[in-house]
Amino acid sequence: MKYIIVNTSGSILLYNDSLPQTNPYSTVPRELTHNLNLWRPDSDAIAYGIDAAAPDGYQWVDLRSAWLTLTPRDFDSATHGVMWVHWERTTRFCPACGTPLLRSEELTKHCPQCGKDYYPNIAPAIIVRVDRGEKTLLARAALRPNFFGLISGFVEGGETFEQCVVRELREETGIEISNLTYFGSQSWPFPSGIMIGFTADYAGGEIKLGDGELLEADFYTRQEVLRMNIPKPFSISRHLIDQWLNKQA
Ligand SMILES: [Zn+2]
Repeated sequence: MKYIIVNTSGSILLYNDSLPQTNPYSTVPRELTHNLNLWRPDSDAIAYGIDAAAPDGYQWVDLRSAWLTLTPRDFDSATHGVMWVHWERTTRFCPACGTPLLRSEELTKHCPQCGKDYYPNIAPAIIVRVDRGEKTLLARAALRPNFFGLISGFVEGGETFEQCVVRELREETGIEISNLTYFGSQSWPFPSGIMIGFTADYAGGEIKLGDGELLEADFYTRQEVLRMNIPKPFSISRHLIDQWLNKQA
């Protein structure tokens, strides 16, 4: 059994750089506990939320940093656990009538007043790599000014993923694309998203930063990108950039 213990910052508790195999806390809030096995039969992990000092030998670690030391399977469990605990913490009352929600056995929450059932809310966001000849589009965002990444953005209601890609590129960079192609997706527990990745080719327009989210954006060569600070290897953003870097020039 492994324990995914999550604090309100979304950090997880590690022991010797691994998920703990015993529970170091004697007091565990029942309402913040999830047996992930109920959701994924192959999982042997329990997740719960707590805010307490790390016991001796344990350390609170940011989930992005935990990727460096956890096995892929444990990182996947941790991702899953972090999202469940976030949902538990932020879904306490019925949005329709304000009554405290009760958790049902099926891992949903139920309002005893108006009878509605609630499921975890996942926020989808697109991320896209746009190639132009021997170059690709990278941008530095105001939220993460220390590295260059790809264009991304949340999907709006009534919008397809593909429409979202076109809109985000227009809004943030002013460019148009062709050959939009699905790449893959990644659960994104910061705090409860999913990233849907695409590639595309540049089709027109001049780069013009639109809505203030980006500090700079341009098309860069492989030699330039290799010298830049780019996203960490676990992210779909990095997978998209690596696929381009590994292409035959
Ligand atoms: Zn209600």
